[in-house]
Amino acid sequence: MLEKLERPDEVRRWKGRIPVSHRYTPGVAGDVFFTALRDRGVLLGSRCDSCDYTYVPARLFCERCFAELSADAEVGPGGRLVSFTISYTGLEGEPLEQPVAIGLVRPDGADAAIVHRIVETGDEPLEIGQRMEVVVKPDEERTGSIHDIDGFRPTG
Ligand SMILES: [Zn+2]
Repeated sequence: MLEKLERPDEVRRWKGRIPVSHRYTPGVAGDVFFTALRDRGVLLGSRCDSCDYTYVPARLFCERCFAELSADAEVGPGGRLVSFTISYTGLEGEPLEQPVAIGLVRPDGADAAIVHRIVETGDEPLEIGQRMEVVVKPDEERTGSIHDIDGFRPTG
């Protein structure tokens, strides 16, 4: 007869590791986005005039009406904080020495928002709707990755 488990963490476990690797490509529009981020330090989106919606990062097609889009709508560097959370634990549940703030920021000119770290938070508490700006690494340190963005910082 099977035992009925009341709590999921009481399940009998067999510890092990599964070696899995993968390669995830950014796609055509994603490549344009990362190239612009690396070479010019800007955020590129895609505008769908039919839907009156600007995506960021750039998209090859509109997810609402399937129209073909161009990766040519520069958005930001300013924006507004849509949501945020502060994490006191790491990915493996370990306590962090310093809490990490993660924000959802809608760059100016975009309807979509980007999730990234919030940096340079200072002493003031974060507030939904407050002004933010993207912080990109110096020119010589950018490689065309999402890590070319250090994060978003509060402004004013
Ligand atoms: Zn559309």
